[in-house]
Amino acid sequence: PEATAGKGVPLAAARAAALAKNNASHKYDNGHALVLTGGSGRTGAARLAARGALRAGAGLVTVGVPASAQLEVAAQLTAIMLTRVDDGEELASVLEDTRLNALCLGPGLGRDRVRALVPVAVKAGRGTVLDADALTAFEDDPAALFADLHEGCILTPHMGEFSKLFPDLAAPLKAAPESGPATSRLDAARAAAARSGATVLLKGPDTVIASPGGAATIAASVYERAAPWLATAGTGDVLAGIITGLLARGFATLDAAASGAFLHAEAARGFGPGLVAEDLPEELPRVFRALG
Ligand code: AMP
Ligand code: MG
Repeated sequence: PEATAGKGVPLAAARAAALAKNNASHKYDNGHALVLTGGSGRTGAARLAARGALRAGAGLVTVGVPASAQLEVAAQLTAIMLTRVDDGEELASVLEDTRLNALCLGPGLGRDRVRALVPVAVKAGRGTVLDADALTAFEDDPAALFADLHEGCILTPHMGEFSKLFPDLAAPLKAAPESGPATSRLDAARAAAARSGATVLLKGPDTVIASPGGAATIAASVYERAAPWLATAGTGDVLAGIITGLLARGFATLDAAASGAFLHAEAARGFGPGLVAEDLPEELPRVFRALG
């Protein structure tokens, strides 16, 4: 395997993310992210992800929404476009637009549609973040998910989601407090990446990231552990969106995952209890200014 990428990777990649593309003359130069949402009443998570992608610097963000939730989503988004995606066939036709270069599936997606949508998304070969429902819907048959994954894919499980996809790798971590020290979590993430064929970002107080080739890094502890008040509803959805936005901008898979986790942790600095997920995307311009 490649050597460990090391702790400098998230910081260097985040610094790169803070810079504008020199020759970006058009919004499409900064990529176009597609975030899929579930039906009415469960669209908040995908909206958080979409906002994260936009604030991470994607040129355009579109939310793919089923008919039942079109009005609900439209009423609550600005600067984000909508397209209708009810099923796998509709997704395939939306993805004929090759400018859609990064995809996010999972936050608020609803487990009923995952088996239809995820294979279509993954086969499109774009940078793809799979989180939340896109992971847990495969808990009975993780191999069915892994079969189609490619090197542009990033899985972003928290410990519970990780243990459903990789029970044997999670078991030794559970024995230790706080899901184990970062080094053993790193080994577990590495094994998971090798098995799944995707980059694996294992969330927690120390977020660890590993690519299938063996490169790995610890994101949130470059300076210190991430803020514990990140442990609140919706923060993971924002992270999935930030990473998707960075993929849309053209960042390499491991760089997008590592700098996404780093930027997310940085966005939480300065807050305390009472941080809400909506705060995080709005902090990114400040984080970029401090890094740039
Ligand atoms: P999720 O579980 O999908 O909602 O994601 C939660 C987010 O909060 C991830 O980015 C985690 O890394 C982060 N997080 C959760 N618990 C903690 C903690 N105790 N300290 C720091 N970050 C945390
Ligand atoms: Mg989550």
